[in-house]
Amino acid sequence: MGEFVDELQAIVGGDHVLTDPDMRRSHEVDWTRRYEGTSVAVVRPATTDEVAAVLRCCARAGVAVVAQGGNTGLVGGGVPRGAVPSIVLSMLRFSTLGPVDAEAMQVTVGAGVTMAGWRDHARAAGLDAPVDFAARDSATVGGAIATNAGGSRVLRFGTMRSQVVGVEAVLATGGVVGSLAGLPKETAGVHWPSLLAGSEGTLAVVTRARLRLVPRFDHTVTAFVAVGSVDDAVALLGILRRDVPSLDAAEVVLPAALELVVEHLGRAAPVTTPADGCCVMIDCADSADPTEQLTSALHRAGERGLVVDTAFATDATQRAGLLEFRDRITEAIATVSTAVGSPPLKLDVAVPVSALAELTATAHAAAADDGSQLIGFGHLAEGNLHLNFLDAGDPATIASAVLGRVAELGGTISAEHGIGVAKTPWLHLIRAAEDRAAQQALRAALDPAGILNPGVLAPELRAT
Ligand SMILES: Cc1cc2nc3c(=O)[nH]c(=O)nc-3n(C[C@H](O)[C@H](O)[C@H](O)COP(=O)(O)OP(=O)(O)OC[C@H]3O[C@@H](n4cnc5c(N)ncnc54)[C@H](O)[C@@H]3O)c2cc1C
Repeated sequence: MGEFVDELQAIVGGDHVLTDPDMRRSHEVDWTRRYEGTSVAVVRPATTDEVAAVLRCCARAGVAVVAQGGNTGLVGGGVPRGAVPSIVLSMLRFSTLGPVDAEAMQVTVGAGVTMAGWRDHARAAGLDAPVDFAARDSATVGGAIATNAGGSRVLRFGTMRSQVVGVEAVLATGGVVGSLAGLPKETAGVHWPSLLAGSEGTLAVVTRARLRLVPRFDHTVTAFVAVGSVDDAVALLGILRRDVPSLDAAEVVLPAALELVVEHLGRAAPVTTPADGCCVMIDCADSADPTEQLTSALHRAGERGLVVDTAFATDATQRAGLLEFRDRITEAIATVSTAVGSPPLKLDVAVPVSALAELTATAHAAAADDGSQLIGFGHLAEGNLHLNFLDAGDPATIASAVLGRVAELGGTISAEHGIGVAKTPWLHLIRAAEDRAAQQALRAALDPAGILNPGVLAPELRAT
């Protein structure tokens, strides 16, 4: 590998090829600490030409390439697996923020810009970013495109896929594809943003993206509402969607998740939740104060017996405090898991909202059978639950029971985190053999040497 490393150093400079194990370590272990492997080197290119040259070099040497942004992915797709020699291609030096085009409501940014960096840049120009989630300070635009990330604002603006109006990416062969023109209308063959959103680093490396911006709303109000059952949460969602045009987020938190985050934060619970119930965190944002809209809708929900308890926040400090009860659940899970020395089993599933209660019951039954603790929360409007099983005895059996039922309910085994390496054994539940074969053929056509993230999205390791 000596000559190979020399070649990489000649491309990106010696300081940007990390071969020292201590320097590589944080890039080789994932956020959950469940997935890890060894790389030949962590390579940090700064230009598209450098990415192209690195990929050509890897294809010649038969070395796999794991593109990496903030390494906050939760399915093991952003770290090396170790079955084949690989490099980690860190994209963090792609940190350029282009000028905001206020008229087009677009901006071009580097793939290594964080989600918070994109948001803050937009806000400085009086606009906002349409995607937000708790890993915002580390997760990057490139990683969010590659995973088609979701988050809390999907019900209003859609997932990351809907925000990418142009992309520049490098194929495994070193060819550069895409366009950053940001034209809202163009029909000219393959639409690279659509193809690459959700491709998890298997089809190309994203270097820059042209992203949609949305209005910055000056008035925001947040409510935490306890309801008697998951079905009641879905009924409340119906009222909110119909009557509250400023609805920005509707997140669901099951009682054990609230208890865990309450303990983690060392604060009192904002609401009292019945054991069989759950909480809905509602965010409304508008150019005029949406408080009246939301309180009237909650009043109507109350008349139908849907509301058990409510906490309300209108000023920024109170809101930030309330949002923490949802935002910091993943962190609370990680803290407990580290303490018991066993990474949680994380399932990120979605079903039609009408089947959410059934999904919740299935997950509780799987946890009870295994003797593990279920911490569930997620994005109500998309029927998307993050099911975390703490101290799971038999993760594969839990996953098979839950994911099998999810598929029967017409849902998906991966709502927003991706398939990575974690979910490949269950991909057949939602994608037929012909479908998987077509995806493999597409992948082989774009990446003949099979170097881009082998093992992700398909169990076969193709790097030669
Ligand atoms: C506390 C916490 C909360 C989270 N909440 C959410 C949430 O609400 N919604 C959600 O969707 N996700 C959430 N996530 C998951 C994670 O943050 C997202 O998947 C995010 O998009 C990953 O971005 P990243 O830059 O960290 O990517 P990484 O973890 O570095 O990589 C993820 C995948 O993208 C590929 N990739 C990275 N950069 C590129 C690139 N430039 N070109 C091609 N492929 C690339 C990698 O190979 C890998 O397959 C959360 C994670 C944490 C830790």
